[in-house]
Amino acid sequence: MIIDGKKISQEIKSEVQLAVQKMKAEGRQVPGLAFILVGENPASQSYVKSKGKACEETGFYSVTERVPETISEAELLAMVDRCNKDPKIHGLLVQLPLPKHIDEQKVIEAISPAKDVDGFHPQNVGKMMIGIDTFYSCTPYGIVELLKRYKINPSGKHVVVVGRSNIVGKPIANMLLQKKEWANAIVTVAHTAAKDLSVYTRQADILIAAIGRAHAITKDMVKSGAVVIDVGINRIEDATAKNGTRLVGDVDFENVKEIASAITPVPGGVGPMTIAMLLMNTLKAAGGKVQTPVPRSD
Ligand code: NDP
Repeated sequence: MIIDGKKISQEIKSEVQLAVQKMKAEGRQVPGLAFILVGENPASQSYVKSKGKACEETGFYSVTERVPETISEAELLAMVDRCNKDPKIHGLLVQLPLPKHIDEQKVIEAISPAKDVDGFHPQNVGKMMIGIDTFYSCTPYGIVELLKRYKINPSGKHVVVVGRSNIVGKPIANMLLQKKEWANAIVTVAHTAAKDLSVYTRQADILIAAIGRAHAITKDMVKSGAVVIDVGINRIEDATAKNGTRLVGDVDFENVKEIASAITPVPGGVGPMTIAMLLMNTLKAAGGKVQTPVPRSD
């Protein structure tokens, strides 16, 4: 089974759109999301553009503040403070990475936890860790939602996460570890200190690759029948492609799909879910709610 993140993300967008229409009909303020984009990094520009477009399509109020790379840390912190105080803004996203002269952690911590729709503020990370409902980091949140909507219940399953970044590996491991519905997994986290990565990956009922290396997970590293979630986005050379490159995941999709029971493609798997969950987080920050029946495990 190919897990279609594009389709699920569209479903979520439609649900959020309906919730926004309801808020409007009730005379309530629509969710507002502010982006702060520092400098000219093409990847950051493209991410903010896609997120802004999704906001527009869903009926959110959104504003993008573009500032030069030379902005001082104090000026950026002052902007964050203004957004924190703006009642039209329910969610604030400072696109990372930031220039070297700015302390990224300081900026993350300056965002009001109530508007931290990226789920990066230590207060929200701490809540996630101890199982209190909060804003979850969008990519791991998207993975959980994909599993839910495909009725793949991680409870009692051995989940192996490869990667321990603060934005993907650590949060997804923590979220699936919680003693809750659609979690309750036995979780292993592997990283570069593993002498033989396949010792861990081959044990996985659900394998989550968040590595950042094209095709790092090969067929021989995956147990037959495993669910494989590929978070990686890697650009590789491809002479047959229009611009000479194409996007691939961390998993050797073509071969692994032969033995996996379910697998996410790249593109079209986890990627589109990240923006969908940003919309969900912002809706929540604005006090809105989607009307989705929670899928039940079989
Ligand atoms: P990071 O570079 O921050 O972390 C990568 C992790 O993988 C590290 O923990 C690293 O271990 C581990 N790792 C790297 N090489 C190996 C190896 N050979 N064996 C075992 N572990 C290894 O990346 P991110 O978590 O930010 O992103 C991971 C991938 O996901 C990237 O391709 C990124 O583009 C993509 N991504 C996709 C998103 C989406 O929306 N779909 C969102 C965010 C990221 P160690 O800690 O020991 O160095």
